[in-house]
Amino acid sequence: MIPFSPPRIDQKVIDEVSAALQSGWITTGPRTKLFEKRITEYCGCQTTVAVSSWTMGMQVFLHWWGIGPGDEVILPAYTYCASANVIVHSGATPVMVDIDEKDFNISLAAIEKAITPRTKAIIGVDLAGFPCDFDQINALVKRDDVRAHFQASSVQQEKLGRIVVIDDAAHSFGATLKGVHTGALCDITAFSFHAVKNLTTAEGGALCFHLPEQFNHEDIYREFCTLILHGQNKDALAKSQKGNWRYDVEEPGFKCNMTDLQAAIGLVELDRYQENLDRRKEIFTAYDHAFSQEKWALTPVYLTDTKVSSYHLYQLRIDGASEQQRDAIMQAIFDQDVSVNVHFLPLPTLTAYKKRGYNIADYPETWSKYHNEISLPVYYALTDEQVQTVVDAVKKAVGMVMSY
Ligand SMILES: *Cc1c(COP(=O)(O)O)cnc(C)c1O
Repeated sequence: MIPFSPPRIDQKVIDEVSAALQSGWITTGPRTKLFEKRITEYCGCQTTVAVSSWTMGMQVFLHWWGIGPGDEVILPAYTYCASANVIVHSGATPVMVDIDEKDFNISLAAIEKAITPRTKAIIGVDLAGFPCDFDQINALVKRDDVRAHFQASSVQQEKLGRIVVIDDAAHSFGATLKGVHTGALCDITAFSFHAVKNLTTAEGGALCFHLPEQFNHEDIYREFCTLILHGQNKDALAKSQKGNWRYDVEEPGFKCNMTDLQAAIGLVELDRYQENLDRRKEIFTAYDHAFSQEKWALTPVYLTDTKVSSYHLYQLRIDGASEQQRDAIMQAIFDQDVSVNVHFLPLPTLTAYKKRGYNIADYPETWSKYHNEISLPVYYALTDEQVQTVVDAVKKAVGMVMSY
């Protein structure tokens, strides 16, 4: 069986995790601090806080930003449930909008239509690793007429004086827009280092801050280190210094710090990230080459004059296939011992969001991209022979199910 997205666990990873274990320091410590510093350098953002997951990082951010009941947060209907779940838990309303025709990302025109005086944040999701139009989204929230309608309801919102722009970069570590890496494309970026993502720490995530100059990023860093550790003003490392035991809690915080065991994996992954990206690009190119001759194949956009993907997911679409035919093609691919996937079931098709009144019929472009989509395996260790096996399996499956 060709797996869909196994993590790259080799002797190097095992050695570094062992070294972390043997150091005696297994919670947040020097490796986590180094990992944060390395991410900040790589992305070119102002500061980075490592956390236990994308989800908890974003939850804490929404809390800190003062987002709650009565507020609206705009996001695409085409994403993983985590993007919307955190909004629900904050008490605010997820305002789902459709994606653009040209790719799998949120539509700028749809965002503009959805903005109201209650809008506090916009979350763009870099689906499959392809960056959203953050230059245009940033310009939109700074426009005088849009700013004029903005109503701040917290200290941070007041300080920014406009809608905050958030990048759900769970897929897009290493991607660029006009030469700038994700992490530095808008106010706040959240990465996921879950086991299936491009860069993994088993479970984990990071918040990258890139706010305008009225914000002091050193203060933000300190505040978040406290917020993600119960609100305690000293972490275990600081408390372990001789005689430095006393601490205070000014506000109840959360608990979602990254451990040094996770950071040990992340540091190895980051060191060799370029070779990971290079291999992923080769696989994307090979799939493109193999499918470009097939009249039924709709291949994904991952490179333009301004954007470079992180090559996270190769989202092939089968022209003319219904949702049932797509599912049948997937089954026929699985039957040939190749794992494939669908990214994603649109939020309005999930019970939790149907119950809340969202209807997939309101998102025609999302439905159009989803209903015939199949994600193919992409990872560093996938060999050229395996790529060929995947291609053959897909072609055979399409031939079995479709009659063109
Ligand atoms: C994986 C994923 C998340 C959640 O990441 P966790 O680290 O598992 O919390 C959020 N958004 C998208 C688009 C994802 O694919």
